[in-house]
Amino acid sequence: MVQPDEIIRTRRKTLAIAVDSFGRLIVRAPMDCSEARIFAFLQEKENWILRKQAERKGAGIDLPPENLNGYSLFLLGKKCKIYVIPTSKVGYNSEKDVIYLPENNPKERLIKWLKNNAKRIFTSVTAQTAARMDASYKSVTVTSARGRWGSCSGDNALHYSFRLIYAPKDVIEYVAVHELAHTKHKNHSKAFWTEVEKYVPDWKIKRKWLKLHGGLMEIF
Ligand SMILES: [Zn+2]
Repeated sequence: MVQPDEIIRTRRKTLAIAVDSFGRLIVRAPMDCSEARIFAFLQEKENWILRKQAERKGAGIDLPPENLNGYSLFLLGKKCKIYVIPTSKVGYNSEKDVIYLPENNPKERLIKWLKNNAKRIFTSVTAQTAARMDASYKSVTVTSARGRWGSCSGDNALHYSFRLIYAPKDVIEYVAVHELAHTKHKNHSKAFWTEVEKYVPDWKIKRKWLKLHGGLMEIF
């Protein structure tokens, strides 16, 4: 029997269920809906719920706890274990997939480190990708905005969320191709996707990865 993680009562007329990025089952129910009716509904939808939860949990995203020591963070698609130790600066061992954080303000130091690396990586990936696509852009900016991984403004200034650094390199490359394709097509028309497909034939798989790992947008 599936259990809801949260039941939200609203002035709606029908029952609705959703499985969030972390596999939590959220039920939205009318004010006067009985618990029995809610559970009957969940039973009816059990297969769908279990499938969605398995998919989300398979993504392996956990929200960071207050104490970051021992927490595993996604970095370029790989899980990296965090150790908070007596050190003065952030350390990273890419072979062991370990990040060392100082005991003083570990979270703030980590976010700053992620943003600096995001800026360096996205700037380089964008430049290389633009050369391949024969595309030109104005600038690369790393933002803390949630909700979109990347965007391209009317004057071809590119913006990326620093949290894209959690994604594998080929997914980052897809986002760069996507945004650079917008310098040629300011929409998601057929011509736009044809351009994307020239450089990332399996763009649908990358897009699915980003959707499935949407919970990464909630990390820091
Ligand atoms: Zn787009």
